[in-house]
Amino acid sequence: QKEIDVPIIIIGSGYGGAVSALRLCEAGKKVIMLEMGLNWGKSNLPYSNLLKPGQSSAWLKTKSIAPFLNIFSLKPFTGVLDRLDFEHINIWIGRGVGGGSLVNGGMAVTPKESYFKEIFPDLDAQKFYSFYFPLARKELKVNVIDEQFLQDCPFYKFTRVGEGEAHKAGFKTMRVPNVYDFDYMEKEYKNEVPRSAFNTEVIYGNNHGKNSLDKTYLKKALDTGNLEILDLHSVDTIKLNDDKTYTLNVQQIDTAGKTVADKVFHCKKLILAAGTMGTLKLLLHSNAVNNFPINESIGKNWGNNGNFMTGRNWVKPLSGGTGAKQSTIPVGGVDNWDDPDHPFFAEIAPLPMGMDVATALYLQINRVDKKGSVSYSNNQLTIDWDESNTKKMRENADYFIKKMNKANGGTRAHLLFNNGFGANICYHPLGGCVLGEATNAFGKLKNHDNLFVLDGSLIPGTIGVNPFVTITAITEYCMDNLMKQNEFA
Ligand code: FAD
Repeated sequence: QKEIDVPIIIIGSGYGGAVSALRLCEAGKKVIMLEMGLNWGKSNLPYSNLLKPGQSSAWLKTKSIAPFLNIFSLKPFTGVLDRLDFEHINIWIGRGVGGGSLVNGGMAVTPKESYFKEIFPDLDAQKFYSFYFPLARKELKVNVIDEQFLQDCPFYKFTRVGEGEAHKAGFKTMRVPNVYDFDYMEKEYKNEVPRSAFNTEVIYGNNHGKNSLDKTYLKKALDTGNLEILDLHSVDTIKLNDDKTYTLNVQQIDTAGKTVADKVFHCKKLILAAGTMGTLKLLLHSNAVNNFPINESIGKNWGNNGNFMTGRNWVKPLSGGTGAKQSTIPVGGVDNWDDPDHPFFAEIAPLPMGMDVATALYLQINRVDKKGSVSYSNNQLTIDWDESNTKKMRENADYFIKKMNKANGGTRAHLLFNNGFGANICYHPLGGCVLGEATNAFGKLKNHDNLFVLDGSLIPGTIGVNPFVTITAITEYCMDNLMKQNEFA
């Protein structure tokens, strides 16, 4: 077995991994990035749309795995969307070079400053809001839909109806920025370019239009010539050596998920950016199998970012329905965060079924009053999480739906979810390796000199809005300081 010796390894190519790669490569460091998913850009394989999921749509599954309406059987393939199933919660994850940026809705939301301060009392909020958040938004190519286009475009009827109904029920709404290129979208509306957002593409990847990380941070990092990305490389265990370097056992797989080579990598500096669940699995599994040192905070302070899906059926009578044609890119939200009794933010989500199903879908984001924790036993992760953790979220969803139905008609979305509530649907797992608790102030893992955690696991379970802008900004902040401290010399 060949040992591959490299100075710096990054595990994972999502937001944390992509930001750290760029900042290291710009400074002239040679970096190897290991990603278990496929390099979609290189593979030239097309992504599927929602209505016809092909084999690229799911990570080694025999069935597609959208949150609802899965009737498609598949041949197992290293597809772009994965789902991890736990007893009371299912967690969706992006797989491939670009991580979650390949499958997410592109909603690029900066948290409210007051909530950011509450969650990260030790961080310099002024510096974040004047520098790291603007930097993250610029690099991610965040933009906002043109208001006139939104008002005129038939594909945004669901947003107009959603906002109108929310106002009638006495709620405030907000415009939500996105990384989908809205100039491209206007062209796709005029049929000048191939359609993506208007062709039901999103959760299984966008063939066009979306500025995912492979088009932003990772592209810039590759352009320096200092980054090499090895896709279909899944890290199994990490070992800390006596000289404080690391040895990684890695399986190279084919697109059917079969191991084609067992490899051993050896590095001086290691960045764990495998996403909240991936990073926790690597730390806890490595601890269980080869005494990898961890600290008591690892696995603690985990949350679902208050994710709670809900919806309303039969919205047709007063509004005329949500539209047969729907863009997959959300641009509106209900902002009820400042209500002390029912603080939440609700994304007005599309449901592009190819016909008007007169159903309104919402992904609510709530506070997480009771955190969960992640542990490892019998060779797998378990999450201490049940209905008690989502009790207040359910109350908020119930309050929201009742108020909306009272003002506008409609029923709770029993057709989409059991009882109308999708409490178990999680797109935003956060925490478990919290900044300043499990790590030092800049992501260096406690008890380690050369290992850094830079991804969603740094955020203590909640940030009040969709998280990738925050993950990006926090990684920028950590890298800025780690580089100043010469950690990668
Ligand atoms: P990730 O982006 O998850 O990247 C981790 C990478 O590491 C993955 O590519 C994974 O394959 C790889 N990896 C894991 N383990 C290993 C291993 N052992 N070996 C090698 N590689 C490994 N957020 C928003 O802000 N706005 C949205 O609109 C939004 N919509 C979403 C919609 C969906 C369907 C989903 C699933 C998520 C959405 N999110 C959204 C959440 C957002 O995508 C995630 O919070 C974000 O991607 C997390 O970034 P990260 O850097 O922590 O890790």
